[in-house]
Amino acid sequence: MTLITNHMPTAELQALDAAHHMHPFTHGRDLARKGARVITRARGVTLTDSDGNEFLDAMAGLWCVNIGYGRTELAEAAARQMTELPYYNTFFQTTHVPAIALAEKLAALAPYDLNRVFYAGSGSEANDTNIRMVRTYWAEKGEPQRDIIISRKNAYHGSSMGSGSLGGMAAMHAQGGMPIPGIHHIGQPDWWSEGGNMSPGEFGLKRARELERAIDELGADRVAAFIAEPIQGAGGVIVPPESYWPEIQRICDAHGILLIADEVICGFGRTGNWFGSQTYGIRPHIMTVAKGLSSGYAPIGGSIVCDEVAEVLDGCEFAHGYTYSGHPVTCAVALENLRILQEEGIVERVATETAPYLKRKWDALAEHPLVGETKIVGMMGSLALTPDKAARAAFASDTGTVGLICREYCFGSGLVMRHVGDRMVISPPLVISHDEIDLLAERAWKALDLTHERLKQDGLMRAAG
Ligand SMILES: *Cc1c(COP(=O)(O)O)cnc(C)c1O
Repeated sequence: MTLITNHMPTAELQALDAAHHMHPFTHGRDLARKGARVITRARGVTLTDSDGNEFLDAMAGLWCVNIGYGRTELAEAAARQMTELPYYNTFFQTTHVPAIALAEKLAALAPYDLNRVFYAGSGSEANDTNIRMVRTYWAEKGEPQRDIIISRKNAYHGSSMGSGSLGGMAAMHAQGGMPIPGIHHIGQPDWWSEGGNMSPGEFGLKRARELERAIDELGADRVAAFIAEPIQGAGGVIVPPESYWPEIQRICDAHGILLIADEVICGFGRTGNWFGSQTYGIRPHIMTVAKGLSSGYAPIGGSIVCDEVAEVLDGCEFAHGYTYSGHPVTCAVALENLRILQEEGIVERVATETAPYLKRKWDALAEHPLVGETKIVGMMGSLALTPDKAARAAFASDTGTVGLICREYCFGSGLVMRHVGDRMVISPPLVISHDEIDLLAERAWKALDLTHERLKQDGLMRAAG
């Protein structure tokens, strides 16, 4: 058996990493200079690094380890499936039991008539599928000119050419020829940063109505679909005002355009329901899923499709698919993950116990001098750091300078909390206990204190002009 050994000193591992491993979303030379943290093991909500330091992982990896680390049932499910049937494709009039069983399970869990599953290996791949799927749907319906997909600035839908184009990340679009043609972006419902003097409710309506304006400008017969995350995750856990989603739903219905809910983060209990669409009363035609579907134990994604769209696609050969669409091992792992989420009542416990408790602790951070707003829905939350709460001011320093300082103090305090610009975000494993939530809040407060001290010393508590 090949063992990936871990007897090297950390510095040696870091040197090898710098020499041979290219990291996602990372400045290579900066990382080589600092050295990557080597994570060696994890249990529950706790990570351990190669020097034996422990961290409370308030990010559940990358928003994905919903059931927590160390569940051997998933390892056993993978081993059983690898022994029985490690691989077979689903292309040429073949199928297998794990793909069937997981599709049936997802159809049962998904709301409304979202009854059909197209598998992918990741959220990015699933959103690439969605682009081709909605355009093919309209072409099959005799409206091939309906090819524009409307998305939002500061959305995250993945990092492939298609999904990265759907996303609205300016830094990504600046490299490599994105966005592809036929994608249009409207403003995001980020009241804290962009709401000016409007109330959150007014601002939510204003941003939703940008969709209607875009449809009018582009031509109602040109728009295929609108895609959005129920709550933007990688954009900074931007919780939309209550007025936003009902108005978006009204506009999609009125114009007969398809609605894609990107549930890659919000799905599988993150917001206190199985899907974010249920939390916001959204009726999507397609839901993108990945991340929490397998709690990150194996790479899998997919599109859960409503009957009407699936039936139209059934009328043609949809010339699309991945070698690993419906991979038997990852399907088996996902099924076991869903069994645990369901049988242990984890989603219900989030809704009734853990999320309300976390919300109390999280909202109390608003009393810290550095924190403007706190936002939290279920088990995803954010803090806006600000030099001036009343003015909802941004810092004078480059966006992200303060957030990065805070993230480093979090690590130093034994807490993994991510920064998005100058917002701090959390998305802990859904199984986090009350004691661990107390620890999360204590460490966050400590990191905020250290950040505040440092900003004062360095003259960074200044508002942008
Ligand atoms: C992470 C993410 C994706 C991309 O998923 P990958 O598995 O990284 O390709 C898509 N949409 C949302 C909302 C995400 O958070």
